[in-house]
Amino acid sequence: MAESIKAPRGVRDILPEDSWKWGHVLAVTQKMAELYAYREIHLPVFEHTELFARGIGEATDVVEKEMYTFTDKGGRSITLRPELTASMVRSYLEHSMSGGRQPVKLWGVGPMFRYERPQKGRYRQFWQLDFESLGSENALVDVDTIMTAVELFRTLGMSNLEVVLNSVGCPVCRPAYRKTLTEFIGDHRGDLCPTCENRFNRNPLRILDCKDEKCKRITDEAPAIFESLCESCSRHFEAVTSGLDDLGVAYHIDKRLVRGLDYYTKTAFEVQSGDLGAQNAVCGGGRYDNLAEAIGGPHVPGVGFAAGLDRIVLTMEQQNCSFGREPMPQAYVICADETARPEALELLYALRRAGVSADMDYMGKSLKAQFKAAGSGSSVACVFGGNEVSKGIVTLKNLMTSEQIEAPRDQAVAQVMAVIDR
Ligand code: AMP
Repeated sequence: MAESIKAPRGVRDILPEDSWKWGHVLAVTQKMAELYAYREIHLPVFEHTELFARGIGEATDVVEKEMYTFTDKGGRSITLRPELTASMVRSYLEHSMSGGRQPVKLWGVGPMFRYERPQKGRYRQFWQLDFESLGSENALVDVDTIMTAVELFRTLGMSNLEVVLNSVGCPVCRPAYRKTLTEFIGDHRGDLCPTCENRFNRNPLRILDCKDEKCKRITDEAPAIFESLCESCSRHFEAVTSGLDDLGVAYHIDKRLVRGLDYYTKTAFEVQSGDLGAQNAVCGGGRYDNLAEAIGGPHVPGVGFAAGLDRIVLTMEQQNCSFGREPMPQAYVICADETARPEALELLYALRRAGVSADMDYMGKSLKAQFKAAGSGSSVACVFGGNEVSKGIVTLKNLMTSEQIEAPRDQAVAQVMAVIDR
């Protein structure tokens, strides 16, 4: 026999016993998006490689090492999206959304792909909820973005979360800070981990968020970027923090928060969970005022965040948050005698048409097995045997109380609904 085929490393099936939890999170997200005035957008799963190379930045881990890139049959270089922001901006530009009311607030959801080292909470295919506001430089939009994330997680019942905030400056002030930082690291360069040694010239800010103990020690006393921010970035950061203060949102400023994608300017933030271990970021985001230009458009400021759906569900499970109830057939039709099959089928479809979820056995199982199936989540068993057929009735058993009634056939649907509503 040929060896059985398994899913590739780093991807997983979300089985029915979990997918209904995902459905709950998505339903809450959709409601939040509506409340916060974001409109949903569906974007392609693959794009031209150049979009990410230019948008995210050539010297980032995502672009250098993690993209799923291939040449299609027409010879184009195509990449499975590693994130949604660049596609959002591409779509905004392609569809001239700058013509309408600004900012344009968009949200989307779907699978992203990164060739990363798989571990708990880190997969090669993972889902993101993505919220973006395009077309405004105002710090109030940053505050609104952070509030959207915080309120989404609060509504989902998550706790033990912390908003971590920083500014990563802009092309005016970042070069000076890069210089200050590389000078500070200076003689210790040789002690950096190989990844950071490589980052030293290309992307030194990333050394600040390296988890390697030696790198951390080297940068412990490093000057914070605040000391180098230009006036515009400083004012913006103050406006964001005072907006959050006014709304009573607690946050923690962390000079090490620089984020992995090059396009961030000014505000960078994460929401971290105390219950997730090493992969503790539930969401990450910030401002990216130069992304549109990097992909060949005019200046379009933007701010947004992406939240990992896999990690939200993991955190909620760990914190025993409610996902609502797993949907189960409310009614289960039991056929105790084959002569009753036509009537049983008739009731099955009548229930479904009336909006009552219902199912039955299709495999000629024993009465005991049918009751067992009914007992695993349904509220009512609708039992048909020879007796019921000859009397023109159906026996309805309330599976929560074990009460039993005989209902005339023409009243069966209404009686089932009455039991469910009780
Ligand atoms: P990023 O696009 O890297 O800023 O990530 C935003 C959010 O997506 C993170 O905070 C995570 O919740 C989630 N995320 C990123 N990469 C992965 C991954 N490989 N597996 C699962 N979730 C991820």
